[in-house]
Amino acid sequence: MPSTPELSPEEIRRMRLVVEHATDVIVLTDTDGLITWTNPAFTKLTGFSGEEALGQKPGDMLQGEATCQTTRQQISEALKSRVPITTEIVNYTKAGELYWVELNIIPIYDENGQHINFMSIEREISERKDMEFQQNLQAMQDKARRDERRLLSQIGEWLHACKSVDELLDVISSGLAKLLPGTSGGLFLYSNSRDVLEDVCRWNSGATGAAIEPDDCWALRRGRSYAYGTAELNYACHHVTEEPTAPYICIPVIAHGDAIGLLHVALDYMALHEARQPEQEAEIIIKRELALTCAEQISLALANVRLRDELRDQSVRDQLTGLFNRRWFLEQCRREIQYAQRHKSPFTLIAFDVDHFKAFNDNYGHDAGDMVLREVGEALASYATTGSTACRLGGEEFSVICPGMDSAAAADLAEELRAAIARISISYGAGKLPRITMSAGIAQLGQPANTVQDLMKTADQALYEAKRLGRDQVAIANADDPLEDMAAELQDMSDKLRDAS
Ligand code: GH3
Ligand code: MG
Ligand code: MG
Repeated sequence: MPSTPELSPEEIRRMRLVVEHATDVIVLTDTDGLITWTNPAFTKLTGFSGEEALGQKPGDMLQGEATCQTTRQQISEALKSRVPITTEIVNYTKAGELYWVELNIIPIYDENGQHINFMSIEREISERKDMEFQQNLQAMQDKARRDERRLLSQIGEWLHACKSVDELLDVISSGLAKLLPGTSGGLFLYSNSRDVLEDVCRWNSGATGAAIEPDDCWALRRGRSYAYGTAELNYACHHVTEEPTAPYICIPVIAHGDAIGLLHVALDYMALHEARQPEQEAEIIIKRELALTCAEQISLALANVRLRDELRDQSVRDQLTGLFNRRWFLEQCRREIQYAQRHKSPFTLIAFDVDHFKAFNDNYGHDAGDMVLREVGEALASYATTGSTACRLGGEEFSVICPGMDSAAAADLAEELRAAIARISISYGAGKLPRITMSAGIAQLGQPANTVQDLMKTADQALYEAKRLGRDQVAIANADDPLEDMAAELQDMSDKLRDAS
């Protein structure tokens, strides 16, 4: 090893000047890693005097909670193997303030190749690190925004492809859980009576399941979105039962100018708590904007589905009674017959007809007759058990579809319906309209009817039989003897002719 040339006093003076005025920190440690010397920049940066540092281990003195343990380990291994290392690490000042340094540790050898100490040169890089952090954060946020936009447009597409409110609610709850992570919430829609809003879907176990009264929500009262926990003046909505620990956002869902519901988005307290103040605020603003866009998309999709439902309803509903009409009845019967034939399950039709309705109309007028038909429709709809459906086929003729029921079970139901109709009492002007009665005929699939037309015809034949036997009663089609039904039909026609003459 070449011997180091002797330095002149001038050279020593210049070197001392450089070391003392250098802005970089210089620390010398002995072979055990204990500090033997520091320059003034060390004291300036750390707050520790040269004397305080003497004999200390730099790691124990300067590093703390936020120091990366892996980097610490790498330094210690480099020291052990006496190889130079350049790295970046978190240090703390004497006052406990965190700063970042770029650190360069070099093992120093004497002219005989003997390792004598380590020299560590450190430069503060807190500002650069801060900038890097901001840039990373910005990049992460930009990526999150791009992901959100992509997800939002995907959810939008799904929402607009939904054909029913139920489908829509499924898309909303799974979509919002993904689009608004770190939040929980629910969608509330006005009930038909419009006095409360019902909890119709939720995500991340948000919403309590309780209905909301419109006056209990500041957003609904003020007609615009309300973010709790972001302004100086904060009043929690009454529908939020406990004092909120984190901000939440309430957004009215508006369709065609009318409030149809409320979107409630609660931010997760834990997720927010970990974030720094400016990030928290940014997060709330972002979530609010996203939630607003979601509410708009939900409003549009809901309005579309409802409009579609209304149009479909208009084409399959009877205007006077609100029951399904003949068109729907025929389609549904075909579907049910196919199902029953495939599954070998029973299927039965009940045909209903108001007794002496022509005379009723003649005596009390068409309007009174319409009132009766409306009441009959309501009674049939409310007494028809789950699974059976009442329809108005036209005039004073109704039919109840009974999937899964044989003629005996349908006869019991028909009897209940007949009795309910006989109890109908309608106020009209100062008095009451006379009670009306209905007759019913029952036909079961396959006995021997196999098509809708056959089934309707067979049920009608039984109905004629009920009329012939005195009306206000139920008759079951006789499966064994269709000729008998025909005879009954002829008898009924001749009775009518006799009555009319
Ligand atoms: P039956 O006991 O044999 O069934 O006698 P009916 O008088 O009910 O029989 P018919 O079928 O001859 O009379 C049906 C009457 O129903 C004719 C019409 O005046 C009345 N009607 C049909 N559609 C309507 C309606 O939409 N509103 C009103 N008010 N009456 C209707
Ligand atoms: Mg009739
Ligand atoms: Mg009639």
